[in-house]
Amino acid sequence: MNNHSRKTCAIINLPSLISNYLCLDNLAPQSKTIAVIKANAYGHGAVEIAKALSQHVPAFAVAFIDEALILRDAGITQPILILEGALSPEDFAHALKQNFWLMLHNSEQLNWLSKQTKTYSGQLWLKVDTGMNRLGIMPNEVNDILAKLSHKYRQNLVLCTHFSNAEELKNPKTLLQIKQLEQVNQEYQYKKSLANSAGIINWPESHSDFNRLGIALYGTTPVVAKNLSIKLAPVMTLQSTVIGLRKLTTGEAVGYGETWQAKRPSVIATIAIGYADGYPRNAKTGTPVFIKGHLAPLAGRVSMDMITIDVTDITQVKLGDVVELWGENIAIETVAEHMDTINYELLTRVSTRVPKIYIYK
Ligand SMILES: *Cc1c(COP(=O)(O)O)cnc(C)c1O
Repeated sequence: MNNHSRKTCAIINLPSLISNYLCLDNLAPQSKTIAVIKANAYGHGAVEIAKALSQHVPAFAVAFIDEALILRDAGITQPILILEGALSPEDFAHALKQNFWLMLHNSEQLNWLSKQTKTYSGQLWLKVDTGMNRLGIMPNEVNDILAKLSHKYRQNLVLCTHFSNAEELKNPKTLLQIKQLEQVNQEYQYKKSLANSAGIINWPESHSDFNRLGIALYGTTPVVAKNLSIKLAPVMTLQSTVIGLRKLTTGEAVGYGETWQAKRPSVIATIAIGYADGYPRNAKTGTPVFIKGHLAPLAGRVSMDMITIDVTDITQVKLGDVVELWGENIAIETVAEHMDTINYELLTRVSTRVPKIYIYK
């Protein structure tokens, strides 16, 4: 099965993951840092990531129950926060049995819960919408909802909100969101959870009982950190190899649609990765890749299984040479900019066709 004649792979560096976690957890010493490992741990492989972090984290978070069940099947025992909460009435039974923490964010979930209050005794989080306008109870409805919750749920309740603009350092919206949750909580003094990665890194005022650490755990951030002492290491390095090389004369074109034409005698290297692997087709000509210590630009369209790069200025490129698409030598944020997307999307789109190779120490 594991032949891997093609050398394209995603190398996942688990020691980097752990040092990122410890570094970010340290930024908020009063908070517990939940590791968000939804979407297969942002494309890194949720089971391996959870195993590597399990001695360090108080809890994990995923988007929905099915993601959490995969972790339980793999022997992960920490509590798991379900960010979208129950998506069907049966989810309460799973949550109770499996020690999942359910987010409550709409009245339908409350109805499901009230039909089983006798049996359900699990931990609940209440999501308050402070301006993201995606999920959550409106601040002025929190009173009503709490009145419908029996004492046993209110005892351990965590009030939660999610930031819409925390990566924008000059945008006052985050402070308004923090204030709004504070106001809602004034008469209750529940535990709270606000910060995502951007909050953890750049908004210390957002740190609370539980922070929810996602993207930065993987060594890439949505923000330029104010605090330059933070050193994060990219966990995923996506790499492939040169499988074709040719010389072009001036005026010859490369790839589908002839979108790239040689303006000088050129050397083109063909790399064994394409959009079927999750390297987006809308990567523009000029998107950098890393080869033999240099950056080389993408030349022409991304194909399903291959890309072509201009290595005219790099000497002695040969078949089999390793090419890094993003990771330790070339920041995924930089690559994403050339593709009109973001680090989050690139990481989660790497397809199952790309084998993951884990580095354990
Ligand atoms: C995905 C998610 C997070 C993690 O966000 P990052 O920006 O990746 O740190 C936190 N909270 C909620 C509700 C999320 O959906």
